[in-house]
Amino acid sequence: MTGEPAALPLLQMALRVEQDIFVIRQRGREVAAVVGLEHQDQVRIATALSEVARDLLRTTGGADVSFHIDAGADGRFHLVADLAPVAPLPDGRYQPQSGAVSRLVDTLSVSTVGGVTVVRMSRRVPASAPTPTPERLAEFRAELGRTAPSSALDELTVQNGQLIAALDEVRSQRDELAVLNEELAETNRGVLALYNQLTEELEETNRGVVALYAELDEKSAQLRAASESKSRFLANVSHELRAPVTAIIGLGRLLTDSASDPLTDEQGRQVDLIRSSAADLLNLVNELLDLAKAESGRIEPDLTDVDLRPVFGQLRGTLRALATRPEVELVVEEPAGPALLRTDEVLLGQVLRNLLHNGLKFTERGEVRLRARRHGDRWNFEVTDTGPGIAPELHDRIFEEFYQVPGATRVGGTGLGLPYARRLVTLLGGTLELTSGPGRGSTFTVSLPTGGA
Ligand code: ADP
Repeated sequence: MTGEPAALPLLQMALRVEQDIFVIRQRGREVAAVVGLEHQDQVRIATALSEVARDLLRTTGGADVSFHIDAGADGRFHLVADLAPVAPLPDGRYQPQSGAVSRLVDTLSVSTVGGVTVVRMSRRVPASAPTPTPERLAEFRAELGRTAPSSALDELTVQNGQLIAALDEVRSQRDELAVLNEELAETNRGVLALYNQLTEELEETNRGVVALYAELDEKSAQLRAASESKSRFLANVSHELRAPVTAIIGLGRLLTDSASDPLTDEQGRQVDLIRSSAADLLNLVNELLDLAKAESGRIEPDLTDVDLRPVFGQLRGTLRALATRPEVELVVEEPAGPALLRTDEVLLGQVLRNLLHNGLKFTERGEVRLRARRHGDRWNFEVTDTGPGIAPELHDRIFEEFYQVPGATRVGGTGLGLPYARRLVTLLGGTLELTSGPGRGSTFTVSLPTGGA
């Protein structure tokens, strides 16, 4: 607390005998009520006063008590009670008998006021209380002067009433607490039940997922086995077919040979038909065999440092024979500068030949172009044509075995070229993608890592 007490205390009284304690308590409560402390705080400061008064009566034989209003350091008004002992405090200190006293008030200390040692306590006046102007303080004094102190018996009655009220409050709080506890226990039981149910559901779901995984594993093992046996079957069948087909072609050639007996025109036409059908068949068988080999992992890429320029030169040479339409130009762009790549030269040649061959097959006019470009650590090979193009919804399907775009110009073929090409590119550690749309031509892009698979 700061500042000196107001010149005129609100109330003064003497503590000399046991009965005074009651009066001090009662008057203290009245002062607290007059200055605007709330009911609870009135009881608190009154209780603290009676405790301190009892202590001082015992240790010093009495005190002079005065009340006043003071502005506190927190900028608020406080009701202050000073108890000036009639004899010095033992050791100059004040130690309350009950430790709870200091909790009943905002401050409790021993101060020296105007050279006199006092035990001082204070309690903050709520902001809602009337501001203690000098006029109002005068009113307070007048009001307190009007009320005479009542007897100890009266004060006891009042105290009893307060005690009963406090007990009632404690009881109702205890009942409330019991209800709350019960509610809490119930909630707990609910939470526990929910938790158990969730745990069970979770376990069940887990079991389901585990079973599903097991089934999935089994299915994929079956699928792998089926795919392997299909590849094995294809490889065996193709291999077995090759010998008789080659024999048919050879025999056909013999029949039409100039050294053989001459055939009638009709016979010659029929033998030619047999030969060309057999050639188609051999082509199909060879492609099947290639694909089966690639699928069963029996093709091992042989990686070497490949210069693209001779590879391109060779492609240009071999494919020129296939570019039979004068309206279609085959352009194989020479890579600018040294174009080195670590890959399998034969497999790369097969893929590019396949794509260029398709371009030539399906393009009726314009051009089929191959070019290679380096992008960072990859080489991109683009085979572009000005052919009919392929609808986006078929971009995946044409990479399926035996799939051929329906209604497209029938130019022969097996539907095995693209799946084979993609297999090989994958073996080389690359990708084969298509950009195309009807009427826009097609661009197949092979992207390979420069450093090899
Ligand atoms: P094939 O050429 O032997 O029929 P592919 O697997 O190489 O088999 O091609 C599958 C199908 O994809 C072809 O039948 C054709 O319908 C379509 N296709 C492939 N390349 C092109 C292309 N450059 N332009 C248009 N359609 C193409």
